Amino acid sequence: MSVERTLAIIKPDAVAKGVAGTILARIEADGFKILGIKMLRLSAEQASGFYAVHKERSFYRSLCTFMTQGPSVVIVLEADNAIQRWRDLMGATDPANAAAGTIRKEFASSIEANAVHGSDAPATAAFEIPYFFSALELWAR
Ligand code: ATP
Ligand code: MG
Repeated sequence: MSVERTLAIIKPDAVAKGVAGTILARIEADGFKILGIKMLRLSAEQASGFYAVHKERSFYRSLCTFMTQGPSVVIVLEADNAIQRWRDLMGATDPANAAAGTIRKEFASSIEANAVHGSDAPATAAFEIPYFFSALELWAR
């Protein structure tokens, strides 16, 4: 197992519901180290660039609109096997399929407004982390 970094986002639906702090507490309780954190409202251009991998999908425009509707909290997490572990804690994309005890089971409203994001592979994390953070903004030992 290797120490990895992943990009997490607490999406606008979860921030609007007032559960950002609860989700952060879950992240810390699960043993992730927070290396960087900020709150921002994505512009249309920033949201479409971030989710460009999905640009041919039917839900792309709606997803980009959703991601710009209010502030998100973007976070860089570090842990052994962080990418998979954070996705396990998030749960399935569609909350109807999310396992008990996962963040999406508890806080997601729909397959689109699903509370959190996580990088899905090392190459994705390598694109997503510098999308939001410069090296100087990340805590280093
Ligand atoms: P994320 O990339 O946000 O961590 P994910 O990897 O579980 O989520 P993806 O397939 O990458 O899921 O989809 C990206 C996001 O697009 C989803 O988290 C959700 O907000 C939205 N989405 C995915 N599928 C649908 C759909 N069928 N209808 C509406 N929105 C969707
Ligand atoms: Mg994804």
